[in-house]
Amino acid sequence: MSPGEPKPRRFPLKLDQVAATKTAVVREVLRPQAHLQQVEQDRRRQTIPQGVGLDSAPVRHRMVERLTRDGIHHAGVLAAFAQVPRHLFVDSALVNQAYEDTSLPIGLGQTISKPSVVAAMMQLLCTRPGAAVPASAKPLGNCLEIGSGCGYQAALLSLLSTRLVSIERLRDLHLKARQNLDELRRQTPHSPDVRLVYGDGTLGHAPQAPFDTIIAAAGGAALPQAWLDQLAPGGRIVAPMEDASRGGAQVLTIIDRLPDGSLQHSRAGEVLFVPLKSGTT
Ligand code: SAH
Repeated sequence: MSPGEPKPRRFPLKLDQVAATKTAVVREVLRPQAHLQQVEQDRRRQTIPQGVGLDSAPVRHRMVERLTRDGIHHAGVLAAFAQVPRHLFVDSALVNQAYEDTSLPIGLGQTISKPSVVAAMMQLLCTRPGAAVPASAKPLGNCLEIGSGCGYQAALLSLLSTRLVSIERLRDLHLKARQNLDELRRQTPHSPDVRLVYGDGTLGHAPQAPFDTIIAAAGGAALPQAWLDQLAPGGRIVAPMEDASRGGAQVLTIIDRLPDGSLQHSRAGEVLFVPLKSGTT
């Protein structure tokens, strides 16, 4: 600039200068947010949890070995546990514990049962004396699950049933199970379909009855009459039930419908499940 020339005005700024400045500032602010959103999207899309390692199959294999040591011997049950990625069904903060033998919270005060208990119940159903073909690939036959929760057990059961109906009384959990099972189907397109029902499981599910197997993930003072009515000959119910003689502690209860139509009760050990409640929320 030559000495006689007037200095360019710095203030007040002309309108086009103001607009340019504003745009620059806005871009500065938006870029980091866009980046964070991208990171969050990537994190959500991530299918293998960091704590579980790059491939979750070996962790599941160790879980299956543990189940075998705990007395689970049914090949179909063990294969189902080896196949279904439990980490997909739990909150991302709990992913590191997904393959431990522990129950985990799934929201709304409910819990996903520990693998050893789920496996023991499934084995009791698969080895029922009334099963038509003991070595069948679908030993659970037409199966009813009470308490879909997050959908994990439904995914396991579906691999061993000809058809599975799973009922949940809490709407938000019903939707969560649907979302989780949809995600599972996206990742493993050949996973069997599950009929998820939002409703009161104490009423069973008459449209698809009779059932060869009924499994409950929640326990009350008595087994609902509808479950007994909807149990096929040769069928079995496995459910937790409060035992008055043990101060109301829950005991795993097994009911078999014999070929002559009569019912036979037996019991396995003490368990701890969330309460079976009536109605929907
Ligand atoms: N199998 C589930 C565990 C769910 S915990 C899983 O793998 O995640 C037990 C579930 O039973 C809870 O979600 C609870 O809401 C549900 N429940 C309790 N009473 C019920 C009823 N009468 N009908 C249907 N679901 C019921």
